[in-house]
Amino acid sequence: MKITVLTLFPEFFDSFRSTSIIARALAKQEIEFETVDYRLFTKDKHNHVDDTPCGGGAGMVLMVQPIADALKSVRTENSYVVLLTPQGTPFKQQMAHTYAGYDHLILICGHYEGFDERIRSLVDAEVSIGDYVLTGGEIGAMAISDAVFRLCTGVIREASHEDDSFENGLLEYPQYTRPIDYEGQQVPEVLLSGHHANIRKWRLKESLRKTYLRRPELLKDRVFTKEEKVLFDE
Ligand code: SAM
Repeated sequence: MKITVLTLFPEFFDSFRSTSIIARALAKQEIEFETVDYRLFTKDKHNHVDDTPCGGGAGMVLMVQPIADALKSVRTENSYVVLLTPQGTPFKQQMAHTYAGYDHLILICGHYEGFDERIRSLVDAEVSIGDYVLTGGEIGAMAISDAVFRLCTGVIREASHEDDSFENGLLEYPQYTRPIDYEGQQVPEVLLSGHHANIRKWRLKESLRKTYLRRPELLKDRVFTKEEKVLFDE
């Protein structure tokens, strides 16, 4: 699986590619990651990629031409192109799974006041990473790349994300490690019992409880299993 990021600031991604799990997966060639600086595609004699907004107003607007040409240079028939914008569909774990199944994902980062509206016609999807406005799309592209890559085969052990929050529509259960007693706070006894069925049941119950308390909207359309109904009512 390959991700290409179109950006004006490729250096933004230096630590992303050279750190921890992603760096290891890149070295093992389990995944591919590249950045393309769309300033290199401008036909403006001063290397400008932006211009003042038609109709007036504050800030600068990214021009279509450099982004369109940069996109043409990397897009293939297997590419899925996503534009980062606060006006897009909110990014969710399920989308990370869908994207992880693609051969090639292209993420376009805007900057400055935004981009020429005609850029929207070049993409397959518009995605937001939350209801707030960042200076550029780079942090969003990094968040999406990270979420997608960790679901690709060989990047982390599959069992490590099976119980993650949002994987089965619930938040993850509480996790503990040694020491068993930290300043009077104890690890729940069931987790030390070695009784796998009881541990699984406790984790499911805690997942339901946490989700109900923190993110009740996630349970709104859930079709509860028999076991979940019983645990939820306890
Ligand atoms: N004026 C634009 C608007 O109100 O919709 C916001 C432009 S923002 C300052 C510059 C760029 O950062 C955007 O084009 C987009 O690529 C990126 N960006 C900012 N916030 C984002 C978010 N929440 N999700 C995804 N991308 C975002």
